[in-house]
Amino acid sequence: MEKILYLAHVDPNGALPKVALEALNGALQTAKGMPGSTLVIGLIGENIQAAADSLAACGASKIFGVSGKDFGMARYATDVKAAEAIAKAAAATIIIAPATSRFARALPGAAFRLKAAIDTHVSGMTVTGGALQVQRWYYRQRMVATLSRTARPWILVVDSGVFPVWQGTKGSAKVEAVALTLTDKEKRTQVTGVQAPSADAQTIRPDAAVLFVAGAGWTKKQADGQTHVKDAEQLILGFLKNAKASLGSSKSLVDQGSEGEQVLSFMSHLNQVGQTGSTPRHPKGFSTCCHGEEPHVVGWRFINERRAVNIDANCGWAQGKADVLYVADAFAVVAKVNELLAKG
Ligand SMILES: Cc1cc2nc3c(=O)[nH]c(=O)nc-3n(C[C@H](O)[C@H](O)[C@H](O)COP(=O)(O)OP(=O)(O)OC[C@H]3O[C@@H](n4cnc5c(N)ncnc54)[C@H](O)[C@@H]3O)c2cc1C
Repeated sequence: MEKILYLAHVDPNGALPKVALEALNGALQTAKGMPGSTLVIGLIGENIQAAADSLAACGASKIFGVSGKDFGMARYATDVKAAEAIAKAAAATIIIAPATSRFARALPGAAFRLKAAIDTHVSGMTVTGGALQVQRWYYRQRMVATLSRTARPWILVVDSGVFPVWQGTKGSAKVEAVALTLTDKEKRTQVTGVQAPSADAQTIRPDAAVLFVAGAGWTKKQADGQTHVKDAEQLILGFLKNAKASLGSSKSLVDQGSEGEQVLSFMSHLNQVGQTGSTPRHPKGFSTCCHGEEPHVVGWRFINERRAVNIDANCGWAQGKADVLYVADAFAVVAKVNELLAKG
């Protein structure tokens, strides 16, 4: 019988990250599909009681915890040790955890110590005939595999956006503290602060409802024979601000900087969507001045509703790759959309 451990860490404010609440739904669904299995929770962080109380009604039989000042920060040595100790205390055979940056770093190390198998970037979990099967993408999101393992313990690090956020009523939870002794060497690394770009400078927003993609057309000569890169910058930034959208790009646009052409100042290779770029997940996508060639569109795999604006009625988006294609000048369209968005 499987002993399922749902393992999570809390944020500095003591709350569980969104992706952790999503992974909890995955763990609950898995436990439900495996009659006779048990589900327990493991929490790591400086103060975990509030998070434990928030999960009191989820149906887990026990909550294990490793807490205290030493576990407030994301630190490989202490996170690995905490995860290992909780997994052993729970005698877990299957460990389901969220893909936070903290766990993405620490759990492969914990797997090594536990002599466990681990699968990261899990994008689906189902129980078929009593056996747990997980889904994972390979070869730059081009091939999806469904796999199962007999090795135990088996750690599954679940990506965001796979399960809905778990919601339940708060209660009063009893946490069983897992004892752990740390050496000075393990506490050597200190997080002294966080440096993050301001909200406006941060153009990649994984939780945004809309992905706005800018293509190379924004920097090309327009009908008047001139380029209008400064206008393009203002229009794109205006849309991002008004729609709180995430910014994606085609390869051609981000490559222009290295080729010495005039480029959009806020665009980097991190924005590139496609075969050799990223595969973001958003409910909607809006492509502008981008041709919609296959190596780019393959990165739209997880965008549910797709719209594009292009002056070329024969562009790639017209070949069944978008739900709606507006054959129009993106400069005019985005200016009008921004005007409407600003009115609210
Ligand atoms: C191995 C390989 C990997 C690749 N990986 C990627 C990848 O990861 N991501 C990626 O994006 N590409 C990738 N590419 C490149 C890809 O094939 C295309 O070359 C690239 O996506 C083209 O970018 P674009 O559509 O922005 O530019 P262009 O092809 O130059 O298209 C610009 C578009 O803008 C339109 N336009 C111009 N002005 C306006 C206006 N005023 N209003 C509306 N529309 C306008 C034009 O009609 C045109 O369709 C890869 C290619 C290869 C070979």
